[in-house]
Amino acid sequence: MFEISLIPAFKDNYIWLLRRGRQAFVVDPGDAAPVLQRLAADDLELAGILITHHHADHQGGIAGLLAHRACDVFAPAEESITGRTHPLRGGERLELLGVAVEVLAVPGHTLGHLAYLAPGALFCGDTLFGAGCGRLFEGTPAQMSASLERIAALPDATRIYCAHEYTQMNLPFAQAVEPDNPDIAARIQRVAAARVAGQATVPLTLGEEQLSNPFLRCREPAVIASAQANGARDASPVEVFAALRAWRNVF
Ligand code: ZN
Ligand code: FE
Repeated sequence: MFEISLIPAFKDNYIWLLRRGRQAFVVDPGDAAPVLQRLAADDLELAGILITHHHADHQGGIAGLLAHRACDVFAPAEESITGRTHPLRGGERLELLGVAVEVLAVPGHTLGHLAYLAPGALFCGDTLFGAGCGRLFEGTPAQMSASLERIAALPDATRIYCAHEYTQMNLPFAQAVEPDNPDIAARIQRVAAARVAGQATVPLTLGEEQLSNPFLRCREPAVIASAQANGARDASPVEVFAALRAWRNVF
């Protein structure tokens, strides 16, 4: 397996650095400068770039990285991506730094959004966040709900490498949805302590999200009840998800 570490960018983005020996990939380089600094500091060679979706805070650094050194750019086929060399669709398989990686289609935040699954590690861009999920800029609630269910079906121990540090910001909403959920209350304490200590809350673990992320809990009676008090017309998971997402937008 490659080693995974984070490169902070902008206010709350994470660019993931995958390295094996001196070879490196980066996931969603919204900015080239911090990536170039890390490559130089660690004496790494950029072998390639992985992109989850087209937003500027995820692909804005591609041009600067390619100006430094030509490399492969793996990215969604259905989105407009700078310098893309390998257009990808869900279901494809890659080998990155000798590691088998599966491409998952996870539409919702954007229509062509992809996630990359390495053994035990999912790079999901802006699909799932700590205690939250991405906004629906392009897709429908049904699409995002299906994408999240695809992720939720992975083993609980899967580590989730999302692209933003949003966990602390998201937890008050999770608690509003489920005021009596002790896992959410405990997580609020843990996350506050981590943030005060300057630590990232990412990678997430899927098992923890299952316990405290309302968007993965659309079948829980307490979540259904809250959603129905906030616009859900029935108890179906898609309707519950749609109501939660709409409520979150104005929370
Ligand atoms: Zn985005
Ligand atoms: Fe983003």
